[in-house]
Amino acid sequence: MKINISGLSEGVHRYVLAKSAGELGLDSNFTGDITANITLEKSIHQFLAIVNASVKGVFICDRCADEFIDIITTTYTAVYSCDHTEETEEDDDYHLLRNDENMIDFSSSIKEYILLSVPVKLLCGNNCEIPAQILTAEPLVDARWEKLKNLGKTEKN
Ligand SMILES: [Zn+2]
Repeated sequence: MKINISGLSEGVHRYVLAKSAGELGLDSNFTGDITANITLEKSIHQFLAIVNASVKGVFICDRCADEFIDIITTTYTAVYSCDHTEETEEDDDYHLLRNDENMIDFSSSIKEYILLSVPVKLLCGNNCEIPAQILTAEPLVDARWEKLKNLGKTEKN
């Protein structure tokens, strides 16, 4: 997922990039292509990128254990700077471009942001319920409480 920045004029440029989830190195529960809409704004010393990416995934519902399909979307901004005089350290959203670099590769950051956007709690959205066998199962009894109950019995006898 690369954009050629050599000879790019100042101003706003829009791109749509796609790459298969597997090629990007995402887990096999992600299927099809990752699509990224990228707005790249070039100014004198830097490129400001607004990235909006989405990919389809097959997940297991945390509540009913059914498989369901969800679209994971992520939006983030990143700066690619050509200004090496500034003493700014590189981080996830701030990258320094070498003078001879004419490509911006978004692959690893898109992958990272997609993975961060997967919800911690995966629910199928069908208003599903906890399977009946779990609800009717005997409630867990604290082992210590059980011991106390037995103690009471022995005293009575
Ligand atoms: Zn469910």
